[in-house]
Amino acid sequence: MTEIIAIDGPAGSGKSSVSKQVARELGFGYLDTGAAYRALAWAVLEGAFELDTLAHRDLRQEFAYSISTDPDDFWVRVGDTDVTDAIREQRVAEFVSSVARIPEIRTFMKSLTRDLVENSDRAGVVVEGRDITTVVAPDAKIRLLLTASEEVRLKRRSAELDPQVAADVHRQVSQRDQSDSKVVDFMSPAPGVILVDSTELNFTETVAAIRELIERGLAE
Ligand code: C5P
Repeated sequence: MTEIIAIDGPAGSGKSSVSKQVARELGFGYLDTGAAYRALAWAVLEGAFELDTLAHRDLRQEFAYSISTDPDDFWVRVGDTDVTDAIREQRVAEFVSSVARIPEIRTFMKSLTRDLVENSDRAGVVVEGRDITTVVAPDAKIRLLLTASEEVRLKRRSAELDPQVAADVHRQVSQRDQSDSKVVDFMSPAPGVILVDSTELNFTETVAAIRELIERGLAE
């Protein structure tokens, strides 16, 4: 059975880059669950679905989503279209919470995530998102919540941007966290979930801390 390493956290906590690096070092798969919400939001923006009727669509049949779980070769596709970069666009980031708040969509995403993990041929998969520790894999042996102070998270997000763009990103990330946290709580750890606060840690230190928790947890 593939071991799930569940990692949740808010936008800008560094969970994607940290999870990917940890997976690489452990020889595990890496699954970015936010990518599926983003890809579905992208499909709506492209006119493939209407937001109002999304809950009633048979997305298993109609949404041809695929994603790589190889941390060294990351891609996301909808049908034959590579959307790896398109799903990071601002218009998608601004719209994605509207898709993520639909209960039927969350149920669909949960089974999609489980299928993707089951199809992995690795001993473990690092699965990162917002509701992995609580809803998607509450029974996972390793469940972590990666946070950092809001100030540090916003700084990390905008480190390479000019001040005007950075201000827009701050606004957008805060708004998205606010909308998302109405649906799932990823700001405080659920019982049994280990909190990793990376406010005072750099990238390498965060990776080392998480890796140690995983290795210790798996050895138990
Ligand atoms: O992780 P990322 O920022 O790419 O996630 C994009 C969006 O997908 C989040 O803002 C949230 O609305 C949604 N999401 C979610 N549950 C997850 C992962 C992502 O609702 N497990």
